[in-house]
Amino acid sequence: MSNTVGTGIRDDLVQPFLLEATGIRGRLVRTGPAISTILARHDYPQVVNELLAEVLTLTAVLSSLMKFDGCFTLQSKSDGPVKMLVSDMTSEGVLRGYAGINEEALAQLLERTDDPATLTLKDLTGKGYLAFTVDQGEHMERYQGIVELEGATLSECIQGYFKQSDQIKTGVLVKTENEGESWRSGGMILQYMPGEGGIQGRKDQDEETLTEDWQRSMVLMASCTAGELLDLDLPVTDLLYRLFHEEQVRVFDQKAILEGCRCSREKLETVIKTIPLEEIETYKVEGKIVASCEFCSRSYHFNDADIARLNSEEEVES
Ligand SMILES: [Zn+2]
Repeated sequence: MSNTVGTGIRDDLVQPFLLEATGIRGRLVRTGPAISTILARHDYPQVVNELLAEVLTLTAVLSSLMKFDGCFTLQSKSDGPVKMLVSDMTSEGVLRGYAGINEEALAQLLERTDDPATLTLKDLTGKGYLAFTVDQGEHMERYQGIVELEGATLSECIQGYFKQSDQIKTGVLVKTENEGESWRSGGMILQYMPGEGGIQGRKDQDEETLTEDWQRSMVLMASCTAGELLDLDLPVTDLLYRLFHEEQVRVFDQKAILEGCRCSREKLETVIKTIPLEEIETYKVEGKIVASCEFCSRSYHFNDADIARLNSEEEVES
């Protein structure tokens, strides 16, 4: 299945591009309906929605830059009121996400804050880390990157990761906004991999020229306003030309971002089969097990007959 869609769509899309003058590659992400639907499945306070919108956008931006077949996951874990942020995207462009909250700690934090907009990333997440994983199925190696949650924004943490890890130059920009439950988000990433080539003759350039080229492109990216990034009336191809025409920007086919969840009754059944019957009893509420998917909030019900059937299937198999 391919989610490549040419260059015609305006929203929920990834636009790959290359700055031909320098060999710097990039992705521009614009999303609205998809993240609005994902956030509407939960009932988080505005400050949490803002963080999750950023995580979802970063997920789309980062996964679109990697070549893989499978699933890309971006996840934070920390000791503050927002103890977890999770988002994943498949190579087919299907995106989902949720936040894990310490309700009491968050309520207390919001209570003693006059303006929630002034809360920092540190106030909300506390100390912890941000990790990304590429999972390509059980027979393939998992790739994981990890960085401490030290930065003014999650995007800054990601940028810090690439800075500390190797010589791959990476710059990230994310802007989000909302009117009630209608969210818009935009993201951009620039990356230069030494030795990857880029345009012909690129490898002959000296370090100073490379640094200048990189800094110039970063300044151009930083000049992109939230208004431009999120404006549906400004096609992404026009925006990229406006920003990078002197860098000879070339655009490739867009990819659609689709909102969706991969949970299923079958997957939960596999989990239930592994739990001893005595333990299952302790999870029952009013004689049933109700399991909810954290990503999409969908509930699955298992009654005694279901559990007995699953339990007998397990015995036959073992
Ligand atoms: Zn689900």
